[in-house]
Amino acid sequence: MVTAIEPLLREQLINRRHRLEDAVIDFQRPAELMRLLAEVDAALDRMDLGTYGICEVCHDSVESERLIADPLTRFCIDHLTPGQQRALEEDLELASQIQTGLLPQHYQKIDGWEVAYHYEPAGPVSGDYCDLISGEDQTLHFVLGDVSGKGVAASMLMAHLHAMFRTLTSINLPLEQMVERASRVFCESTLPTQYATLACGRANTSGEVEICNAGHLPPLLIQDGKVTSIAATGLPVGVFCSESFTVNRIHMSQGDTLFLYTDGLSESLDGTGSEYGAERLAQLLGKNNLLSPDSIVSLCRQELLAFTDGRPPRDDLTLMAIRRTK
Ligand SMILES: [Zn+2]
Repeated sequence: MVTAIEPLLREQLINRRHRLEDAVIDFQRPAELMRLLAEVDAALDRMDLGTYGICEVCHDSVESERLIADPLTRFCIDHLTPGQQRALEEDLELASQIQTGLLPQHYQKIDGWEVAYHYEPAGPVSGDYCDLISGEDQTLHFVLGDVSGKGVAASMLMAHLHAMFRTLTSINLPLEQMVERASRVFCESTLPTQYATLACGRANTSGEVEICNAGHLPPLLIQDGKVTSIAATGLPVGVFCSESFTVNRIHMSQGDTLFLYTDGLSESLDGTGSEYGAERLAQLLGKNNLLSPDSIVSLCRQELLAFTDGRPPRDDLTLMAIRRTK
């Protein structure tokens, strides 16, 4: 695993070295600078010797997501010193706060639409991306995504997606082009093994909704107790740099609800090891079609908790309900 990411990490280390050298001139603390330079050089030496990414205590591999987050890491997570352990916990706490700060307002009522969501990381940080962006032209953009992998590396990619979509929605491209650009940028700036599934859409005041589903679990449309799923129209973003996407167009009337979720819901297991599944979800939504977005989201959480018998979640969970109110 480490060998796959090593060329990229080497490049990062060399870049870091150049930046440190550039900083020599106006750096206030030369001793600190020299220490950092020595650490970078030592990491490059380990790459040349073939010992890079191997824990110095147990000689097992260092977790690759930790190497991506910090290419200077020398110990696996089990062999950090108490001081390093504490620093890691503080970093995670800070990362979690930053991630929470990236989330949209919890409950939103925008011209003709009412939206509620629930975002719950399985660990300190999540690899799910959830966003609501209202445009100047009264449109509402919604995005729900799931980045490959888990933990810190996935949360960094989540932040990357967040920044990209925030920029792309401001230039008002057709939805499919927006996703195509996001996919290209994501592909060019991440490792080959990293991608994200996402369902995103744009709703306008007259009830027209465009949805682009890039390899994500089908969003469910609830109309008069009938539930239809909106299948994926493309591969996940970032799989290939030149992917193209298509868009589904639907009309939503007053009282219709669109429900989006990540696999933290559908792939949750009960005591016997069976999955919660999309079918069970569709039945629950169909029977409760009159509920407000907020109540639908709460109901799903209660059902999931009952299903898993309160066991801690194995995966990040995000739920979003969008209802047309006029
Ligand atoms: Zn170790």
